[in-house]
Amino acid sequence: MMSRLDLFSPSYEVARRRFRDTANEAGATLEQHPVDPGADLTIDVATLGHANPRWAVVVTSGLHGVEGFFGSAIQLAWLTRLKSGGPLPGGGAIVLIHAVNPYGFARLRRTNEDNVDLNRNFLDTRDSYTGAPAAYAALDPFLNPASPPSLLEPFRLKALWHIKRNGLPMLKNAVAGGQYRFPRGLFFGGYGPAAATRIMQQHLAAWLGGAQRTIHIDLHSGLGAHGRYRLLLAESMRPSQSEWYRDTFGSEVVEPLDSVDGTAYDASGTLGGWAMRHLSDTRYRFVGAEFGTYPILRVLGALRAENRAHFFSRPDVGAFRRARNELLECFCPHDRRWRELVVAQGLAIIDQAVRSQTTE
Ligand SMILES: [Zn+2]
Repeated sequence: MMSRLDLFSPSYEVARRRFRDTANEAGATLEQHPVDPGADLTIDVATLGHANPRWAVVVTSGLHGVEGFFGSAIQLAWLTRLKSGGPLPGGGAIVLIHAVNPYGFARLRRTNEDNVDLNRNFLDTRDSYTGAPAAYAALDPFLNPASPPSLLEPFRLKALWHIKRNGLPMLKNAVAGGQYRFPRGLFFGGYGPAAATRIMQQHLAAWLGGAQRTIHIDLHSGLGAHGRYRLLLAESMRPSQSEWYRDTFGSEVVEPLDSVDGTAYDASGTLGGWAMRHLSDTRYRFVGAEFGTYPILRVLGALRAENRAHFFSRPDVGAFRRARNELLECFCPHDRRWRELVVAQGLAIIDQAVRSQTTE
């Protein structure tokens, strides 16, 4: 097996080619769904295993664009292991969905071509794409200044002041929970379903191939302790419902939505919430696997600076390059140890999910 470090691709194009090639060599059925007319940006789907599966394990990468560098590495690690004789248990299907937001992956953004956070874009009705939490609106001038990023600005101090004033849990929910009013702002959920959202909504049920039970692992990075992960549940649930997740993945890593000081926060329009509400022909279970990188203020600062650079800097200036590099570092650190850890842990989560399906 190739070294875990080699699994990290230098660009979206390379990642996509390696995903397709390795999936082919591993005997997968491949689909490509373009999100742009040029077809250079595609969601690629590899399906392996039984044609009429009893169960399915779904693994998505790059819902948040730039996070795809790390998610793609985990998917490639799994395919590479299978190709070199790794186990594919009978009776089920593995569905690997590569680069749900290919634009963001290719352009090193977390959002899509319309600055939309796709994990806030899966709303049930057209008229719900509106409004913003009052606290977000109040923070808009701080979060989204209409000017290029500045190295001189005391961002940390300002952020700490807001945290002291409002409390971190309240801020997390108000800021990161999603908004539908400031199209150039952070965590904008869109004014309607994005191309990628429609592709997922139209095809996800078919990719499951009629499986009666599904476990979906959605790979994310940027929140939590460096090199460690938490599994965030998609919806608030009773302790009896979350018990299955604790038994399968370990209670120390499973985090319900209502935990006050954890990694999770309440969000609208998430992929997981949508899938659990709509895919009623299968018993759908979902975790957002969130791998930590750097402290939350550094990550928020990186998101804010990159967003300002995107809208208000020219691409050839140093401030733009700095902002883009810092964003990439915050969502896919270069550190060898981090990269080895996340691939090993990502594979272990997929293995736990598969084992839970085969032993049930
Ligand atoms: Zn994410």
